[in-house]
Amino acid sequence: MTLSTDTPHAPPIADAAVRGTVVLKPRRARPFFARHPWVLDSAIKRVDVIDPEAGAFGPDVGAVVTEASTLDGAVVDVTTSRGEFVGRGIFNGRSRIRIRLYTFEKDQQLDRTFWHHRLETAIDTRRSLGLPATADGAARLVFSEADGLSGLIVDRYADYLVVQPTALACATRLDMFIGHLTKLLDPRGIVLRADSTLARLEGFELEAGTLWGELPADPLVISEHGIRYYIDLEGGQKTGAYLDQRDNHRQAAQYLSGRRVLDMFCYTGGFALAASMLGKAASVVAVDSSRKAIETAEANARLNGIENIEFRVGSGFETLDGLVDGGEQFEAVVLDPPKFASGRHKLDDALRAYHRINRQAVRLLPPGGILVTCSCSGSVTPYDFVAMLAGVSQRTGRDIQILESRGASPDHPIRVSCLENEYLKCFICRVG
Ligand code: SAH
Repeated sequence: MTLSTDTPHAPPIADAAVRGTVVLKPRRARPFFARHPWVLDSAIKRVDVIDPEAGAFGPDVGAVVTEASTLDGAVVDVTTSRGEFVGRGIFNGRSRIRIRLYTFEKDQQLDRTFWHHRLETAIDTRRSLGLPATADGAARLVFSEADGLSGLIVDRYADYLVVQPTALACATRLDMFIGHLTKLLDPRGIVLRADSTLARLEGFELEAGTLWGELPADPLVISEHGIRYYIDLEGGQKTGAYLDQRDNHRQAAQYLSGRRVLDMFCYTGGFALAASMLGKAASVVAVDSSRKAIETAEANARLNGIENIEFRVGSGFETLDGLVDGGEQFEAVVLDPPKFASGRHKLDDALRAYHRINRQAVRLLPPGGILVTCSCSGSVTPYDFVAMLAGVSQRTGRDIQILESRGASPDHPIRVSCLENEYLKCFICRVG
């Protein structure tokens, strides 16, 4: 594993010494008193670098650090414009998120013990939830801000861990995290996944691959609610699976008994397999544009001895249009598309795309049909999404009743002070 940050004078980044003070503009501290962890560059008045030699403020006093700096990856204190302590975090001059705050306690050092404790608390939370449910199960053990570890994802797949740092703060402390994870969980192997878009925004590069131990010799199989799935730790989407949908797979299945089901955007078959095995659906057509995903989905069906799912490679939009034009009917439709909105500025385009696929799905359903409709775009709020469904109801002249409003599984908690983590919506609806 190599970490490249191109910092000319990189400080001893992973240590706990406070190396700077970030002074906020007047009246900009409120979100942080409410414990939001992201200090954006626009909120900062001044950055004072503490000179480690002098043990006091050095020659950069008053300098506004706007780009790659000696502080990157180092601990800084954030204060109000009047000098009151706000929080302590890690600086990154390359990112719009200039500081990620990890504590709001003045006496709390960001030392090894602190990070270890945060990992332990996150893992204990999952244990208390009974997750993973079995030795061959999978669960998210660390979910970034939700676990007070902004910029770190850790997923467990049976005996293996997948680690994904999404912030420089955590990328520069990776060895320490890995060391403690091996001690706490004794995994067979740890794989590093890098989200190149996020890494670019944070100004670091990590080489994906095996970080520790070994990769499974045979294809890895995990189980979820008694259904078995192949997992590609290195090449699969996300970190291998959509763990956030785990409980929605099972819950949706409860509504599908005896029905002819369409699973659009099926990936490796999460909703389709649950519909067949847990829900006793009559038959399922499952569609995804990724050939690789469909091949794995077919292998998953064989692995579980399922024979009533027909898998197809195809575009979601075109397939839906084709099915509607061909006068096809399904008694239930699942829509779980990829993220349509990359930010609030893309909201209108995203809502139009959601409207389009949901409208077509409704047209495929007879009265009494079930629509399971999801959105993983964080910038689309649940209210936006319901308003979109109201538009679909108006346009199609059909009633849509929400039977269940759901989010991600509980191993993806939402910290009330950072709603950016609340991205997944899953509505189970009855269409009249
Ligand atoms: N339902 C899945 C997760 C789906 S994620 C589960 O529960 O496990 C979204 C899926 O949409 C991905 O598998 C991706 O390959 C697929 N996808 C992306 N763009 C698509 C398109 N235009 N048409 C069809 N599928 C698409």
